Amino acid sequence: MSELYLNGAFVAPQQAMISVMDRGFLFGDGVYEVIPVYAGHPLRAAEHLQRLDNSLRAIGLQVPLSGADWSSVFTRLLAPDPMTDQALYLQVTRGSAPTRDHRFPAQPTPTVLAMAKPMKARDAAVAEQGVTVVTREDIRWLRCDIKSTSLLAAVLLRQSAQEAGAEEAILVRDGLALEGSTSNLFIVRDGQLITPPKGPLLLAGITRDLVLELARGDGISTQERDLAVEELRQADEVWISSSTREVLPVTRLDERSVGDGRPGPLWRRIDARYQAFKAELRRAAA
Ligand code: PMP
Repeated sequence: MSELYLNGAFVAPQQAMISVMDRGFLFGDGVYEVIPVYAGHPLRAAEHLQRLDNSLRAIGLQVPLSGADWSSVFTRLLAPDPMTDQALYLQVTRGSAPTRDHRFPAQPTPTVLAMAKPMKARDAAVAEQGVTVVTREDIRWLRCDIKSTSLLAAVLLRQSAQEAGAEEAILVRDGLALEGSTSNLFIVRDGQLITPPKGPLLLAGITRDLVLELARGDGISTQERDLAVEELRQADEVWISSSTREVLPVTRLDERSVGDGRPGPLWRRIDARYQAFKAELRRAAA
């Protein structure tokens, strides 16, 4: 990474400094976004910026950048590596205050950070074998719709999945499977695509919306409704989705096979549509 954006300036990462009094550091008092970029072209940038705005509003913060300002920041950050697939990371905190106090400073000056990093292509083995997930009790708070940098619960859950040899932890609250620790959740049952509804208990994934759109465009019937963990266990197919991982087929769940233990036919259809959608973005960028 040659430069990042911090509070209005473009600086080398080694020169980018924030105060130890920053509330992002002290309290995790901030929000963030991750936007995938294909050949210099951000995927659904407007939707990601809208979600950033929703998260900021939810924590009573305003960011001093317009859509056009963000767009020129992105152009400059992406310029050194225009043809590589990248991920843009944006973070806004409530800035720093002279003393450590949970209460908001009267006139906060947000800390605004943006940086780009290369995004790895999917491992070819995933399309052949799928990934493994484990279920875990959802120990997060009740505002999972805010994309907050207070990620300790997600960190512990993802680590627990890692230690169990799994790609992701699927989070279960009151018998309902909600989402992954860093992804949304889909199942296929009798040809229907089902995903839990948006609300305070999960993050409204931008990839989730795109997957639903692609499925509907392909004539697949979709349902956004509560998903009991037993249904998850009996699903024909299970998928997880996120901006950096796209749509991944899950073939093992808590040490048992999902369906016939291979990525399913609907996943192949949606993945083909997703790859075509990306190819279109790349073409538009060329
Ligand atoms: N849920 C959670 C908890 C996440 O952290 C993420 C990824 N940031 C997602 C869902 C997927 O969201 P998106 O498709 O917008 O990356």
